[in-house]
Amino acid sequence: MKFIYDFNEGNKDLKNLLGGKGANLSEMTRLGLNIPPGFTITTEACLLYFQDPVEVMQKITPDVMNHLKDLEKETGKKFGDVQNPLLVSVRSGSVVSMPGMMDTVLNLGLNDESVMGLANLTKNKRFAYDSWRRFLQMFSDVVMGIGDEKFERILTKYKRKIGRNAQDTDLDFSELRKVIADYKALYEKEIGSSFPQDPVKQLFLSIEAVFKSWNNRRAKTYRKISNIPDFGTAVNIQAMVFGNKGNNSATGVAFSRDPSNGQNQNFGEYLTNAQGEDVVAGIRTPKKLDTMKEEFPEIYSELLETMDRLEKHYRDMQDIEFTIEDGKLYILQTRNGKRTPSAAVKIAIDMVKEGLITKEEAIMRLDPKKISKLLFKSIDENAIIHVLAHGISASPGAVSGIAIFDADTAETLANEGEKEIILVRPQTKPDDVHGLYASSGVLTQFGGKTSHAAVVARGMGKPAIVGASDIEIDEENKEFRVADMVVREGDYITIDGTTGQIIEGKVPLVEPEIEGEFLELLQIADEIKSLGVRANADTPLDAQKALEFGAEGIGLCRTEHMFMEKERLPIVQNMIMARTKENRQEALDKILPMQKGDFYEIFKIMEGKPVTIRLLDPPLHEFLPELSIVQLERQELRMTNALSKSLLNISPLDEEIKKKNKVISLIRSLSEENPMMGLRGCRLGIVWPEINEMQVKAIFQAACELKLQGINVIPEVMIPLVGMISELQYVKVQLMQVALETIKEYNVELEYKFGTMIEVPRAALTANEIAIEAEFFSFGTNDLTQMTYGFSRDDAEGKFIPIYLNKEILEHNPFEILDQEGVGQLMKLAIKLGKKTRPDLKTGICGEHGGEPSSIKFSHSIGLDYVSCSPFRIPVAKIAAAQAAIENKQE
Ligand code: ADP
Ligand code: MG
Ligand code: MG
Repeated sequence: MKFIYDFNEGNKDLKNLLGGKGANLSEMTRLGLNIPPGFTITTEACLLYFQDPVEVMQKITPDVMNHLKDLEKETGKKFGDVQNPLLVSVRSGSVVSMPGMMDTVLNLGLNDESVMGLANLTKNKRFAYDSWRRFLQMFSDVVMGIGDEKFERILTKYKRKIGRNAQDTDLDFSELRKVIADYKALYEKEIGSSFPQDPVKQLFLSIEAVFKSWNNRRAKTYRKISNIPDFGTAVNIQAMVFGNKGNNSATGVAFSRDPSNGQNQNFGEYLTNAQGEDVVAGIRTPKKLDTMKEEFPEIYSELLETMDRLEKHYRDMQDIEFTIEDGKLYILQTRNGKRTPSAAVKIAIDMVKEGLITKEEAIMRLDPKKISKLLFKSIDENAIIHVLAHGISASPGAVSGIAIFDADTAETLANEGEKEIILVRPQTKPDDVHGLYASSGVLTQFGGKTSHAAVVARGMGKPAIVGASDIEIDEENKEFRVADMVVREGDYITIDGTTGQIIEGKVPLVEPEIEGEFLELLQIADEIKSLGVRANADTPLDAQKALEFGAEGIGLCRTEHMFMEKERLPIVQNMIMARTKENRQEALDKILPMQKGDFYEIFKIMEGKPVTIRLLDPPLHEFLPELSIVQLERQELRMTNALSKSLLNISPLDEEIKKKNKVISLIRSLSEENPMMGLRGCRLGIVWPEINEMQVKAIFQAACELKLQGINVIPEVMIPLVGMISELQYVKVQLMQVALETIKEYNVELEYKFGTMIEVPRAALTANEIAIEAEFFSFGTNDLTQMTYGFSRDDAEGKFIPIYLNKEILEHNPFEILDQEGVGQLMKLAIKLGKKTRPDLKTGICGEHGGEPSSIKFSHSIGLDYVSCSPFRIPVAKIAAAQAAIENKQE
């Protein structure tokens, strides 16, 4: 087995073997770019290492030594030499980019002697000892596991001696020597032996450490969150180039397009006289790439050309690392750059227009889940806000939440159900990832747009502000100060990652609109997809939003919300409590015009598009007050009554008490052991037919009136919770009569449908019969999931699904991600049986799954006609639907 590839041997398509970094270093070497030479140990070696470390290390040792010889030849330096030492970096590199998750060691090969050789050779003592200092620190941290902060403390101590704001570059040779002495002492104290001087030993320990870093806690967490398989990491060993040689040297990162907004202008940051991760770590505040135009004019244009070339070659936006050593440019890494969702959309559309990629490629590149974040909230312009400070806007969107100052607390609170958390940190490190994941937004005091917090938040699509230097965080006391304000743990703040504003308290936010490239993207998705996308919308306001977001109809309009409205609820309660048919009809007559009004507005907004209205579904007790509250009210009345009886000998509240008694007995009689399986859905219509009749009358009156005005309306009446054809027949006969009468009254032609919701397993199993009466099936996958699993959702999600997920008994929460094996198979069967009876049967999904990408792809695969989801998920659903169509074609 070939475990090692020279950079001359590999190419970009060997990512699985060489990791992203190694494959791209090879590819760039092939392209003839200026890449420091090196070689890559494969991911296969890493995976085998976890099975048998001793054997793997034995196997690769001679190969590593041979490649090292080649490196020596190529560079004219010698590994371990005291006069002209070859220094290398040992860099991890996974198949899928996991920025900052794993470990890298720089300047390896230095020791007490060779550092002097390097100083003599370069006539730059400061540089040599700076490199030695860095190597001591990185090796001790990455390889030996001594906490980095212990070294930082020493470094800070010496910086402070020079001045309050001194930076690492202010330390001269003699001070660096003292730092180094302290570092070595620390090493000896922690490890119990002196720092390894033998470069070969340093090298192999580092290789092993990089292998092991694949399974460190933060890498594992990141993989779990990002769904990255256990690929193993490659190890790259590369000759060092030095950005810390003085002011004619620098290191930086650059993007070929702006990763925050997608503008086709390069973007980047760099630091002169610096090395490696100084830029990313936010140690000093970096300079903008533009500054390079003056500072290193020739290199600047070379860099731009290189980026352009790389972008065209990879056909995607590139994120590169570069180093300038003594006025010479080296490229150290390239990868497809992470970007905000809005940048992703802009770049995809721009690249289609530039002819770089096809429309299909543009669609396939987008992650629908992240695009959903595009529907970012912003701060209401009319709101009066108190801006505390400004920072660098690193990831867009506005969010309010409680300030939390450490990752663990954020995680704990999130697990307890807290949904509004803003993580406030001096800066974040890879160890903080679980906290970022638990929060809705992040705010840091230090760092730039390429700092860890910025990169990770953008990747997660969460709002972020970094480098907010006006705030002063006190980690110990869990608070931050800004001017004379103190924000403590648990206080609400709002951050706007789009503008960089940090605002006191909770402020009103507004929903986004769709425009520009996003709109173009949705047009492309519309061209490609075959699955219809409708909205779940209960009110005219929802319907309006749905239309704006591109809904092709309403897949589910629930009527119970209309009943719940404040002015209506008492009438609804009267209707329920009516003793006689006449009294009930009286109340229903009052509700009719209200319902009609709702439907009228919704139909009008959705002109010409189908609107599926579900007849009243929930158990009636949901419209009545809580039993204990009424009992309490009765208790109070009784007490007052008793008092006035004893004092005045009258009981004025007798009537009131009687009324309460009536309500209490009604609530009792309507209460059910298991309301979700009780008197609801079509059962309600069979027991209380007047309610359904009123609703159908309202639907058809509204539709006919609009028809008369020349407005096209396509109502679809959905009868819920049907399990038997006989139920559907009974209800439908009764309601058809109402519909036909109404249409006749208005004397119009109306296109309409009667159909059902498939949400009881029996309905799916007998779909051939159900389809005799139903012209459409809409899968109510929330209930269907409950009944297929036998899980009551509220109990399950609160009590045992989290445990099931934790113990990996369940892979996903089936209420979030459609269960393809159980629920999905029922759907498949129902479609097949239904279409046998009625070939033109229309089928859709209207549970929450209708807006979830993987469920949408499944829906496409089983031949559903449309999905229905909440209005703001429509763009996401369209992209997922287009992706499903493309994937299907490819297969
Ligand atoms: P990560 O995957 O965390 O970015 P890298 O392996 O890319 O880790 O290395 C960390 C930093 O060290 C980067 O800034 C990189 O450019 C720098 N670096 C790595 N190898 C070399 C080298 N041979 N010469 C100079 N700088 C290097
Ligand atoms: Mg890197
Ligand atoms: Mg239901």
